Amino acid sequence: MAEFQVVVIGAGPGGYLTAIKLAQFGQKVALIENDKLGGECLNYGCIPSKTMINTSDMYHKIGDLSSQGIEVGSVDVDLMKFQAWKNSITSKLRGGISLLCKNYGVEVIVGTARIKNENLVEVINGEEKSEISVDNIIIATGSRANDLEHLKFDGKQIISARDVLDLDHVPKSMLVVGGGAIGLELGTALAKFGTQVTILEITDKLLPGIENDLVNVVERSLNEIGIRVLLNSKITKVSKESDVVVTINNDDEMINESFEKVLVAVGRRANVDNLGLEEIGIKLEDNGFIKVNEQMQTNLSNVFAIGDVIGPPWLAHKAYMQGRKLAYHIAEVPNNIQIKNIPYAVYTEPEIASVGLTEEKALENNHDIRVGKFQFAANARAMTSNENKGFAKVVVENKTEKVLGVHIVSENASELISEGILGLNMGMKIEDIESSIHPHPTQAEVLFEAAMSSLDKSVHSFMKKSKKE
Ligand code: FAD
Repeated sequence: MAEFQVVVIGAGPGGYLTAIKLAQFGQKVALIENDKLGGECLNYGCIPSKTMINTSDMYHKIGDLSSQGIEVGSVDVDLMKFQAWKNSITSKLRGGISLLCKNYGVEVIVGTARIKNENLVEVINGEEKSEISVDNIIIATGSRANDLEHLKFDGKQIISARDVLDLDHVPKSMLVVGGGAIGLELGTALAKFGTQVTILEITDKLLPGIENDLVNVVERSLNEIGIRVLLNSKITKVSKESDVVVTINNDDEMINESFEKVLVAVGRRANVDNLGLEEIGIKLEDNGFIKVNEQMQTNLSNVFAIGDVIGPPWLAHKAYMQGRKLAYHIAEVPNNIQIKNIPYAVYTEPEIASVGLTEEKALENNHDIRVGKFQFAANARAMTSNENKGFAKVVVENKTEKVLGVHIVSENASELISEGILGLNMGMKIEDIESSIHPHPTQAEVLFEAAMSSLDKSVHSFMKKSKKE
C-alpha cells in the first residue's frame, strides 16, 4: 500500500497550491483529482469566464471606435473559434500546474477519493481501486452549481455557468435566474455577443450584499448594454418546448415569455457526496458545507478542509490562502498568515472590487468614520481609454485616520484594489497614501484623490476649502 504524509483530495486552486507548498516543505504528498488539474476555477470558472468577458467586450466596443477615428467594417462572432482559443489558455495553465507538481515531487493520482478512515483513503479509477495510508488528509473538493426544483439542469435549455462557457453559438435570447456575480458576469458577456438577456432576481436588488452606490453604477450600465433586469421576481411555471416558456411573477404582475436558454446561477453546494464523511463522522454545517475551526481542522484532528467545500465566500484566492496557511500549519513552519481582509472582485461592466469595511457596515457597527469618494469621470487616464464610469471610495476611521475599507467600481477595479488590500493589511493611514506618489496618468490616481477627499485635502475636486494641516 502506498504511504504518504499528506493526501490532498481535489486539485482546484485550494488543493493544488496546498499540495505544492507542502512538498516544498519536504512532505510526501499525493494530490488526488477525478477531473482536471486546476479545478472549477481554471477549467469551468474564473479563467474561461474572464476569457469570454474580455472577448465579448472587445466585440461590443469595436463599433464605438468610430468616434476615435477608427472605422471598422463588418465584424462577426465565431464562438467555435473562441472556444478553441479559450481551451488553449486553460490547457496551457493546466500544463503549468502539472509541471510544478512534477518539479516539486507531488504525486498526482487520477481517480475519485473516498475516505475509509482518518488514516486510509481509497482511490477509484474506473475498474481500478487502490488504497493509500496517510497521516493527514485535506479535503479540497470544492462546490458545484445549485439548480432549482422547477429548473433542473439539462445542459441544453436549462444550463449552468459551465454550459454557457462551452456554447457553440450565440443564443438569440437568455433568461439569467439569479442577479449575483456569476449571473451578471455571464449575462453581460452574452449580451455583448448579441443575445437578448433578461436577468431575474428574487430580492429587491442586484448583487445582494454589495453596497447600493456601487451596484447602481453597474445597473445603469446593464441598461445601456440593453439587458433587462427584473427585481422582486419569481418563476412560477416552466415548460420546455422548442424554447423554454417561463411564467414570471414580477412585483405581482405575471409575465409569460420564451427564451432559447435559461441560465440558473443561484449559488453553490458542497462537493461532499460519496467522500465517506458520514461513515467517519465528519461534521457538516446546516447548509451542507464542512465544519472547520480556524486551523481549517474538522472535528477529526488529522482531517482538514479548505476552499469552497467549507462554504462562502466562494473565491479562488480564499481557497489559495487557506491552503497556504494550512500547509505551514501541517509542516509546522512558523508563519504569520492570517485569513483576513478577503477582497472580492466582480467582473461586470464596470468591475466592482472591494476590501475591508463598507460604509454601511461601519455605520451599522457604530464606527466613527468619514468617507472619501472620487469619480473616474474626472480622471485623465480613464478619459483616454474612454472608460470613465464609476468611483473609488475610502472608508476612514475619524480618530486614527486609519483606512478601514476601499471600494472601487470602475474599469480595472479588480487590479486597482490591490493597493487597498496591502494597505489595509499594513494598517495604512491616509497620510501613507498622501506620501505615496502615484504615476500619472493612471486610474490609480483616483484612489489617491478619494483618500485625500476623505480629509478635504483633494485638489482635483470642488470642496469649500482645503483643510489646513
Ligand atoms: P474547486 O476549484 O471546485 O476544485 C475542487 C476539485 O476537486 C475539482 O477539480 C473536482 O473535480 C475535485 N474533486 C471533487 N471531489 C473529488 C473526489 N472525491 N476525488 C477527487 N477529486 C475530487 N473565484 C474567484 O476568486 N474569481 C473569479 O473570477 C471567479 N469566477 C468564477 C466564475 C464561475 C463561472 C464560477 C463557477 C466560479 C468562479 N469563481 C471565481 C469561484 C472559484 O472557481 C472557486 O472559488 C474555486 O474554484 C474554489 O477552489 P477549490 O479549490 O475550493 O475547489
